Amino acid sequence: MKKKTLVNHPPKVHVPGDNRPLVDPIYQSVKFTFDEVGETQRYWRRERDGFYYSRSSNPTLTQLERVLAELQGREDCLVTGSGIAAFSIAMLALLKAGDHMVFFTEMYQPSRVLIQRILRRFGVSSTMLSVEDHSGLERALREKPTRLLAFESPTNPAVKIADLQRITAIARQNDVLTVIDNTLAGVHNHGQFDVDVFVHSLTKYAAGHGDVLGGAIIGSHELIRAMRADATLLGPALDPHAAFLILRGLKTYVVRWQAQCSNAQRIAEFLQSHPAVERVSYPGLPGDPGHALAVAQMDGFGAVVTFDLRAGTEAGSRFADALELFAITASLGSTDSLVVAPAMQAPRGLTEQQRAWSAIGPGTVRLSIGLEDADDLIADLAQALQKAEA
Ligand SMILES: *Cc1c(COP(=O)(O)O)cnc(C)c1O
Repeated sequence: MKKKTLVNHPPKVHVPGDNRPLVDPIYQSVKFTFDEVGETQRYWRRERDGFYYSRSSNPTLTQLERVLAELQGREDCLVTGSGIAAFSIAMLALLKAGDHMVFFTEMYQPSRVLIQRILRRFGVSSTMLSVEDHSGLERALREKPTRLLAFESPTNPAVKIADLQRITAIARQNDVLTVIDNTLAGVHNHGQFDVDVFVHSLTKYAAGHGDVLGGAIIGSHELIRAMRADATLLGPALDPHAAFLILRGLKTYVVRWQAQCSNAQRIAEFLQSHPAVERVSYPGLPGDPGHALAVAQMDGFGAVVTFDLRAGTEAGSRFADALELFAITASLGSTDSLVVAPAMQAPRGLTEQQRAWSAIGPGTVRLSIGLEDADDLIADLAQALQKAEA
């Protein structure tokens, strides 16, 4: 064999079946081959297992999908290249032209815009309500045949808690599919509720280290099989190396979640007692409107603490600029702490009523609490609040 051929057909290393690597390898391969055309055709006819092309499946992705399905307490999972891809694939696979869907103003803004702009372009009509408006939801589903209800809990950024029992019961009575973007609750929460499809941005708590994008759709075999077929054509595949990083992140998921929740609780309590702060939204605070529901529904209240500065938008920018330990940027659930200033999240394209529902005011700051020492974070917040007032 000439060297030019050799480098393209290197010798294979055989790892004996009883000699497993403790950390599974990354299957960084786009293609999988069978020795014969006949076996390839048998695979296509689903007469044998295996892999063929990583846009539809890959062992590293399958491994991630299995652990996520189990964490969420459902049969199957499809991973995608980002959280928003998971949401858009779920919507595109479950809806068709002429369908009507219901969603809530409090939702992650890009998901809302996707519904209002792209799904509308494809003939899907929608009704937007507040996640707290149960009678409005009952009325909307009664008045108009509806295919799907999309919601979040906790909502991003206002961390409102949806009443999962109530909302899923209303949807079931009206034969409406439910899709929850469960990102802010993490991959271990809410499996006990009658939700059809869970969507996650794995970029957040699951991966946890801020170095990789990913998403997941989790549900029954039947629903996920249909979505996998559509996703193979739409092409949102997660890269195997990214899947490996997410699998590695998951190993510390539970301890990170617990430590970040406990840091967030202390920070919420500190902010609540501070005179510059008008209101703190954190479901772990006993006075929070979502507290009782969150206690009943969730294991841990999450790392997102949202609060309103009395002094408004400009003070919010001064506050964020003065912080030393919080990075001014998007995203949440990372090991490092992050801040979104009021000037960075004014809701677009909402009526005054909808703005009120969104609970994003002129002084609304969103924090994502990391794994730093809570005393250091509180000292940093205290000095920045002082500078914001000056
Ligand atoms: C971040 C986020 C997304 C989008 O996830 P990406 O991985 O950034 O694409 C979707 N929904 C919620 C609730 C999020 O917080």
